[in-house]
Amino acid sequence: MAVTTPTDPKSRLFVALDVPDVKRAEALVSRIGEAAQCYKIGLELVFGGGIGLAQSLKKSGRQVFLDMKLLDIPNTVEKAAANVAALGLDYLTVHGTDRKTLDAAVKGRGSRSMKLLAVTVLTSLDAADLKQQGIAMGPTDLVLHRAIQAKAAGFDGVIASGQEANQIRAAIGPDFLIITPGIRMIDGPDGDQARVMTPARAIAAGASHLVVGRPITDAVDPAAAARQIVEAIRTA
Ligand code: C5P
Repeated sequence: MAVTTPTDPKSRLFVALDVPDVKRAEALVSRIGEAAQCYKIGLELVFGGGIGLAQSLKKSGRQVFLDMKLLDIPNTVEKAAANVAALGLDYLTVHGTDRKTLDAAVKGRGSRSMKLLAVTVLTSLDAADLKQQGIAMGPTDLVLHRAIQAKAAGFDGVIASGQEANQIRAAIGPDFLIITPGIRMIDGPDGDQARVMTPARAIAAGASHLVVGRPITDAVDPAAAARQIVEAIRTA
């Protein structure tokens, strides 16, 4: 099934609920209120009751993205993807390093509607980090290679920085999700992120969705920060 970029700007923003427990996550969701409707639950919150929260967010009409970045032998990835798909959530991430892992995730999802996203190259890594891993390709070439591989395996999209979105769009076309973390406001801190971009530039480069954590969750007014990003998506 072809996947395209949503037309409603609010449904193109995933707020990363990177907090240690459900109580804090619920407080954040309540402060954000109507300013966002899609949430990402990752490795921190999943060990603090995140699966239960994911299901209750889903029941309340939100879109939920489980950022588990699966990477293991094919049998394990297949069974894990099948179990996540049975939870009825919207998106799951898998590391997009090798084709066997991707194929296993597609097999595990089966006919369920959950969308599979391949993590190309973490947005915290730059060319020097890849070299240190023994990888000669630079981030852009490696992201492109992994995006093409993910599309061929039957994935719905990739996680990639705004710096690669343009080239992925050009190579793969419109029916593919490009979900972009490493989003930073022009005057905000980069933190541990290396390949960063502003919301407007990432959208203009071809991102279908943005994943934003600290620029919203650390803001004095998280709802206002989310609204500002949705506005940047609308006008990009
Ligand atoms: O706080 P910040 O906006 O940097 O959060 C980015 C979120 O996106 C985090 O939850 C992180 O795990 C996730 N992510 C990422 N880079 C990737 C894949 C996921 O930053 N390549």
